[in-house]
Amino acid sequence: MRIVLVGPPGAGKGTQAAYLAKNLGIPHISTGDLFRANMSQGTPLGQQAKEYMSAGQLVPDSVTIGMAEDRMEQPDAEGGFLLDGFPRNIGQAQALDDYLQRKGLSLDAVLDLEVPEDEVVKRIAGRRICRNDSSHVYHEVYNKPKTAGVCDQCGGELYQREDDSEETVRKRLDVYHTETEPIIDYFKAQDLVITIPAMGPVDEVTRRSMAALEVTEDDGDAA
Ligand code: ADP
Ligand code: AMP
Repeated sequence: MRIVLVGPPGAGKGTQAAYLAKNLGIPHISTGDLFRANMSQGTPLGQQAKEYMSAGQLVPDSVTIGMAEDRMEQPDAEGGFLLDGFPRNIGQAQALDDYLQRKGLSLDAVLDLEVPEDEVVKRIAGRRICRNDSSHVYHEVYNKPKTAGVCDQCGGELYQREDDSEETVRKRLDVYHTETEPIIDYFKAQDLVITIPAMGPVDEVTRRSMAALEVTEDDGDAA
């Protein structure tokens, strides 16, 4: 399956993507995680992305689209993928469509995680991520690690993302409304959008998403 997850920052895209990707047997591709990995390795791409990320702005399409396409070209993505945080504006959505068309492929669904803004703010305020791998995500109240400050999955140190500060979050929410939300209508025109109410426990939201995709956990490998 080829799936896109959309929703405001803090909606739970990364959290859901980890479970959905595992259940469906496809890789989780997060452009935010790719940028953070490049930043921690000090690559030129990471250096280019840093100033935009710290300011809560989108990294330019000229950098982002190539990086996303390179990742989708990897062998593990041949049978499908779950995109998280890409596309994030109309230009990226068109670039994704062009890429898939060139490959003779298409999207199966766009899952739109719907969460009220006051909840998103609470989720971001308590988010803690792992120094080793930013796809390992926790919350100080809602999704605590077994040992405070330590990643359950790899023992890495947990920290608060610099762009999760109150001021930057406000900017990121503005950017979401002005630049990212229009892609929902863009994909609605292709009849691909499924709205998922994303309030409630993590496993409940995963169940709703799997039901929307009309797959059960048991037939995930066949997807
Ligand atoms: P996104 O990738 O959309 O920015 P995350 O998956 O990083 O969002 O989730 C944001 C924060 O909210 C994290 O701290 C995560 O642990 C927490 N979270 C995710 N899903 C839920 C949920 N259903 N209920 C409560 N907290 C959640
Ligand atoms: P995320 O991890 O999805 O919350 O993304 C963190 C930050 O990375 C965003 O605020 C942007 O600065 C940058 N970023 C991630 N994905 C994209 C994208 N598709 N286009 C542009 N910038 C992105």
